[in-house]
Amino acid sequence: MNRPESGKLAQADLKLETLVTVGGRNPHAHHGYVNTPVYHASTLLYQTAEDYLRGRGRYSYGRRGTPTSEALETAIQEIEGPACAGVALLPSGLAAISTALLSALKSGDHLLVSDSAYGPTRKFCDSTLTRFGVSTTYYDPLIGKDIARLMRPNTAAVFCEAPGSLTFEMQDIPAIAEVAHARGAVVLADNTWASPLYCRALEKGVDLSIQSGTKYIGGHSDLMLGTVSANQKTVQRLKDTAYGMGLCVGPDDMNLGLRGLRTLAVRLARHHQSGLTVAKWFEQRPEVLKVLHPALPSHPGHAIWKRDYTGACGLFTIVLKPIPEKAVMAFLNGLSLYGIGASWGGFESLAIPFDVDDYRTATKFQPGGPSIRFHIGLEDTGDLIADLERGFAAMAAVR
Ligand SMILES: *Cc1c(COP(=O)(O)O)cnc(C)c1O
Repeated sequence: MNRPESGKLAQADLKLETLVTVGGRNPHAHHGYVNTPVYHASTLLYQTAEDYLRGRGRYSYGRRGTPTSEALETAIQEIEGPACAGVALLPSGLAAISTALLSALKSGDHLLVSDSAYGPTRKFCDSTLTRFGVSTTYYDPLIGKDIARLMRPNTAAVFCEAPGSLTFEMQDIPAIAEVAHARGAVVLADNTWASPLYCRALEKGVDLSIQSGTKYIGGHSDLMLGTVSANQKTVQRLKDTAYGMGLCVGPDDMNLGLRGLRTLAVRLARHHQSGLTVAKWFEQRPEVLKVLHPALPSHPGHAIWKRDYTGACGLFTIVLKPIPEKAVMAFLNGLSLYGIGASWGGFESLAIPFDVDDYRTATKFQPGGPSIRFHIGLEDTGDLIADLERGFAAMAAVR
């Protein structure tokens, strides 16, 4: 018996920790080596002219797929579970979002997008999709089944993202999906925060589940990658769209994605724990008005998180009690262990100040004080908290 061999084991019986280590691997198809080799490939040669003419053989061209791309696609498909019919690999999370949207829409269609969606997602809808005759309406992320009143006869897709980028609203995706499906619309979700390890979105009614693989799949802040997982209904259009646009991922980046996947379960478990530890510490601080972390009972979306998710990553937002901007800057500049920078999902901790109220259109986000998004990395939480204490001391010195 060849083992461990991806696809041969009864996947329903395997836990996610096992699936991430076994998924997409077939060592004995590669001389026994544990990892699938990295195929740097464009041209593929045929043995004979007839083979070429008849298109014989499993592969045909680098862009069409290699054992390396198949390994990553299969691994993600196995993690997503039986509801997943196929995976498209894209060169970034944003490419995954735009490709998934293009696969679901055509000229004349109407699209519903959560007001809390990732900023560049909105930009794509407002620019490119508008140019191609697709109109977008932004909706309150908390809308739930009331999405029905925004559905038009030509509404072809509903885009969800939970929790919301920066602002962490939880969405009742199963309720939204039920309404959308009854009207024949496709449901897309940006599932980057939870990943399929903590929410198998395709099992919650989502038809196209998107991830920025740049975040936790990569896990080391050295990779751009996007993935779209599709169900039976959407997979062919997704694959055709990605292929038609010539989108593919470089072999070394796919290999980094595979390498990241193998440790995803243990890293996420640590991000979950450490994130909650630091979030709870923030909740006790007098400087903090509130902490927006769905796994905290104080979060308005906590019940949805408990129902639909099995874990949390290291990303959340804190709202400070009102203070002058220079005090917020003193706090952030007083930190040594938190990088100031966008993106997240790597091994390191990050913090960024933000304000989203200038681009929201369906709802207002006015939390009552300055907002800072934190990513809690894999450092020791005692060290991370001591650093935050120094930041608060620097803040106090300015007031
Ligand atoms: C970062 C991010 C993206 C974009 O991913 P890239 O890989 O940076 O293109 C999309 N959605 C969410 C929720 C993100 O956080």
